[in-house]
Amino acid sequence: MSERQRRTKILATLGPATDAPGVLEALFRAGVNVVRLNFSHGDPSGQAKRAADVRAAAQRVGVEIGILADLPGPKIRIERFAGGKVTLKAGERFDLVASPDAPPGDATQVGVSYLGLPGDVKPGDVLLLDDGLMQLQVVEVQGERIVNTVLNDGVLSDRKGLNKQGGGLSLGALTERDKELIGIVAKIGVDFIAVSFCRNAQDMHDARAVAREHGCDAALVSKIERTEAIENLAEIVEASDVVMVARGDLGVEIGDAELPGLQKKIIRESLRQNKVVITATQMLQSMVESPIPTRAEVLDVANSVIDGTDAVMLSAETAAGAYPVKAVEAMARICLGAERQFQTETDFGKAQRGLERADQAIAMATMFLSEHVGVRAIVAMTESGGTARYLSRFRSSAPIYAITRHDGARRRMALMRDVFPINFDSRGLTPREAARGSIRLLVDANLLQAGDRVVFTSGEHMEPHGATNTLRLLEVGQDGRASGLGDL
Ligand code: PGA
Ligand code: MN
Repeated sequence: MSERQRRTKILATLGPATDAPGVLEALFRAGVNVVRLNFSHGDPSGQAKRAADVRAAAQRVGVEIGILADLPGPKIRIERFAGGKVTLKAGERFDLVASPDAPPGDATQVGVSYLGLPGDVKPGDVLLLDDGLMQLQVVEVQGERIVNTVLNDGVLSDRKGLNKQGGGLSLGALTERDKELIGIVAKIGVDFIAVSFCRNAQDMHDARAVAREHGCDAALVSKIERTEAIENLAEIVEASDVVMVARGDLGVEIGDAELPGLQKKIIRESLRQNKVVITATQMLQSMVESPIPTRAEVLDVANSVIDGTDAVMLSAETAAGAYPVKAVEAMARICLGAERQFQTETDFGKAQRGLERADQAIAMATMFLSEHVGVRAIVAMTESGGTARYLSRFRSSAPIYAITRHDGARRRMALMRDVFPINFDSRGLTPREAARGSIRLLVDANLLQAGDRVVFTSGEHMEPHGATNTLRLLEVGQDGRASGLGDL
């Protein structure tokens, strides 16, 4: 217990590099809390197999691992070239043909999957291919053909992504394919569903409705990665359980110069609305090929932690990199270092904005006690994880042990900063017995010891919908039992 526990959570994308036997266990031991299955790549049955492997490996290691299914969304891609790739030179003409009958591409033209593209562009617009590595400027639109001038020398290969600088592509977020995939991931039993390229609150409502139709109670994650999402940020955050700062596509569309400020704004808005937030993409990019991160990457991860993110995400570093386990170890080390050096202060400012619900009020009072009385831990009996979420939104110097018997709730809480989900079944116990039992569990796990003070929160009737309405200050006795605190 002497070592501080890492508070910021780690999300790792799975892929070919994590499929070898033993890698998942190693990733979990290194500190992964949630894994991402990227449905833009690989077939759904391969991802279902990964999900089953994750559940089995988590059981073997004895950790709670959430699974996030990332829907492809309406990512626009060029089609294939006859020779796999072409070399383009600045100043040349290169056409995009928005037609299902476009011939295989060559050095003069290539097909594009989104048939509405000609209606969304006008002369002068800049189109960014392959994350901005290749840039085209629109000269004119001739029916389904977009005539462009190449702006830079480079190589363009099959199926690369296409963005429009400044945003403004009109296609909706939830494609038919996404809807179909929600049905599939509902069967897999994932804990989070991420909506790529969402534009507004309605996109999130639609995704949630489809998930619920399939009986799936996964948390909904909005990926903030297009200009429209920035314009509608507050309403999207409100319609989401979790928000992702998707810096890859966002940086391409909106320009890299805007990214650092936007990251901070998105994190701040998410916390203001009591939502969980992930910072994603290229956090340790050089570790795809290198066993150690660059200084700039170390600073980037640490700065996200200081910005207040709940979780940091690895993409190609784990999915396709040469050092997936080392990347997670580096991330864990950097998060811990940043947390040690820079204590995020509890945000009591939330209280001044008015507390609408009893559990929010209890959370506020708990944090006040925790900070001013000095406790070893906050112990929260929770059903859905809601109490833990409110508690953790204030950011806490004491760890929050969130106790529930619900597997899904524990796995969703695995993403929350400062929260450590614990499995305990309190059915049939009096509130007093439940408190004793859970404190005992924490003592046995070496998370608490005699003499420690804790703030304990619970509801009077925890089942079926336990609304937290009780807060107690307890001290762990020599026998590992908790008793009420008298004199402070
Ligand atoms: P992606 O999303 O990895 O699915 O593209 C994250 C991002 O765009 O940053
Ligand atoms: Mn993206």
